[in-house]
Amino acid sequence: MSGPRIVVIGGGAAGLMAAGRAAERGARVILVEKNQTLGAKLLLSGKGRCNLTSAEEDLETFLSAYGSKGKFLYSAFSRFGPARTLEFFASRGLRTKVERGKRVFPEKGGSERVINCLIGYIRQGGVTVYRNREALNLEIRDGRAVRFILRGQEVEGDAFIVCTGGKSFPKTGSTGDGYRFAKRAGHEVIQPVPALCPVRLKEKWPQSARGLNLKNVSLTLLKDGIVVSRRFGELLLTHFGISGPIAMDMSRDIGEACTSGNATLILDLKPALTMDVLTARIERDLKKYAGKMFRDCLKDLLPRDLIPAVVEKATIPPDKRGEYISPEEKRELACLLKEFPLTPEGLLGFDWSIVTSGGVDLREIDPGTMRSKIVENLYFAGEILDIDGPTGGYNLQMCWSTGYAAGDSAASSACLES
Ligand SMILES: Cc1cc2nc3c(=O)[nH]c(=O)nc-3n(C[C@H](O)[C@H](O)[C@H](O)COP(=O)(O)OP(=O)(O)OC[C@H]3O[C@@H](n4cnc5c(N)ncnc54)[C@H](O)[C@@H]3O)c2cc1C
Repeated sequence: MSGPRIVVIGGGAAGLMAAGRAAERGARVILVEKNQTLGAKLLLSGKGRCNLTSAEEDLETFLSAYGSKGKFLYSAFSRFGPARTLEFFASRGLRTKVERGKRVFPEKGGSERVINCLIGYIRQGGVTVYRNREALNLEIRDGRAVRFILRGQEVEGDAFIVCTGGKSFPKTGSTGDGYRFAKRAGHEVIQPVPALCPVRLKEKWPQSARGLNLKNVSLTLLKDGIVVSRRFGELLLTHFGISGPIAMDMSRDIGEACTSGNATLILDLKPALTMDVLTARIERDLKKYAGKMFRDCLKDLLPRDLIPAVVEKATIPPDKRGEYISPEEKRELACLLKEFPLTPEGLLGFDWSIVTSGGVDLREIDPGTMRSKIVENLYFAGEILDIDGPTGGYNLQMCWSTGYAAGDSAASSACLES
């Protein structure tokens, strides 16, 4: 083989896609991975089921999920967006299904099947994989990347693609090494912080509530009394606080609010009901269960395991009988269910965050090719870039699209140069 030689550092979602695409374009590709296995983080994704993309069809809406940085992805998504991603996996025998919130999962099996498709892709292209090989340093001469120093070895190439991920879940191998390589190449690295991260609360949930998944609730974040963000959906109560989609999606704002002000969370357990409707509903239930103690009157209104948490916070004594509960107490209870107060203390940190926010400054990366604007034969793809999305398949889609763009461009431009 005589194609250009491309070195890809990191065998996660972005690195596997980049390596496979570069090889498909005729490059000789070496993929360097510090773990023994490829795709360690992919294996954990979507609780092992891998929510590989979103079925959102409108490109503008899809990109708006990444916030103001979404426009950076326009070109990469136009070339290899969600539809092409699904075609790619389907052509490798992976059938998918769409679940709630337009989340796309493999129809059968889970993450392992996604990884197998990608391993099939790199094998088909004859990619050489160096496993258990950690990249330590990047050598740059006269504005060009020349070689990567690996533990016990060096590897030269015509172009280099860095796909080392962020700093989240470091036990999967993503320990932020790529930021060092980027800085060495002269890139600005925006301070990496945990995102999509569980939240620690001051309050402790009673034992029964821990592990409870609340559906159709709404969570509002206030900073110094002013609403910062609000989400509706699923919330998981845990021994340390809260997790699940809405807590994760709000975690960046929560983390920021905790460090810079007085942060409060308001949990609405009955967002579909107005205060008046809820008060009337409480009244009806108390009538129905007259003669029973307050704590036993709530079983139609709330999940059984959540009742102790509400009773604990309510001003009504738990053993007060339904018929003796006053109109003020009923109103107060309705208020508690609509505005259950929680005090966030901070995020659980990189060990538990699904993604990393921050990374290689996008202003220094060409959005069409993922090529560095500083070092001409250096590329970045995946979570190492300063862009992240909400839960729902957005983060993996960003990896597929940027990985594909980097592999494609590195192979074609290195080909022209060699
Ligand atoms: C628990 C969990 C669940 C998730 N679920 C979903 C989901 O369902 N849907 C979704 O869209 N996103 C999900 N994500 C996020 C998504 O998995 C990541 O955004 C994505 O995997 C990042 O891919 P990447 O290729 O950029 O980096 P990574 O997957 O982190 O891969 C980087 C690779 O580089 C290797 N590496 C690092 N440094 C070096 C070095 N110096 N030398 C050699 N190799 C190195 C690492 O070992 C690693 O294998 C989840 C994340 C977690 C943690």
